[in-house]
Amino acid sequence: MAGAGTGKDAAEGSLPLCSVCGKPAVYFSRVSGTHFCDTHFLSWFEDSVRTTIRDCGMVGPGDTVAVALSGGKDSSVLLEVLHRIFSDDTSVKLVALTIDEGIAGYREDTVAAAERLAARLRVPLRTIAFPDLFGKTLDELVPGREQVACSICGTLRRRALTTLAREEGATKLATGHCLDDESQSAMMNYLRGDLTRTLARLSPGAQDSFVPRIKPLRYLSEREVVTYGMLRNVVLPLPECPYTRFALRADVRKMLGTMEYRYPGTLMKILQGQEKLSGKFSAGQDSAAVTPCPVCGEPTSGELCATCTLLDSLGIRKP
Ligand code: SF4
Repeated sequence: MAGAGTGKDAAEGSLPLCSVCGKPAVYFSRVSGTHFCDTHFLSWFEDSVRTTIRDCGMVGPGDTVAVALSGGKDSSVLLEVLHRIFSDDTSVKLVALTIDEGIAGYREDTVAAAERLAARLRVPLRTIAFPDLFGKTLDELVPGREQVACSICGTLRRRALTTLAREEGATKLATGHCLDDESQSAMMNYLRGDLTRTLARLSPGAQDSFVPRIKPLRYLSEREVVTYGMLRNVVLPLPECPYTRFALRADVRKMLGTMEYRYPGTLMKILQGQEKLSGKFSAGQDSAAVTPCPVCGEPTSGELCATCTLLDSLGIRKP
């Protein structure tokens, strides 16, 4: 199991034990030095998500939460944990949204996994494919632009999710970004010299003011998310997206993975640093700086929104 055991335990020939109850441990947190058995890991994980939702005011009575469900591990864990947290709360509704970007040899399996999970949890699922909104699959848009495949994919997927969330009457759009994703994104923006994007990422409402985004897993590491998914049986072996290898994120993930291993807590410090900067930036911002895009009406801080700018550059005018 991920993270189980320490050199000391192995040297003594004994199994590590849960720091809470003394049963065999399945997870060791290198940041807090705590061992968890399966039961205490699951309750600690779900309590952590509840705390993030409460402290950040992410969900309240009357909310319809649209959960972006790719079928991969992070989004599957997100739907599972939100379903458990809100299953007895009739004032909060969940709906799952799946975007099929059209990536041959990859998306078929993850879309099928999303459909199975939503059906098991009895959460209504809406699926939409890129061609329905943009006229082409990602595979048709990428040739000759492989180095920016993830940028095209991410920009169009965000628009697709916002469109679907609005059609479903959602008041919140939840994504499965975890601590690793958030710290990687912060570092990628620094590496690109894109400080504005780094800060804007956390400015409330700056990107999608009509359907606020929430990230309930943002303070949990990928190891923790995967461990939870394995214990709850929602993490399945799935193929890897063929465009991953072109992404800057792959190198940043490797670099930060090494840093986190050598200096536990690095990922959290990167995220906390970004939040501090963003707080100072937002405090001095004029909300009038965000205006409707003249083409599609979505909020933008530039002349055209990012999606319409991209669609223009791809020769596709408007979704
Ligand atoms: Fe899209 Fe890149 Fe993720 Fe593949 S790896 S699904 S192209 S963002």
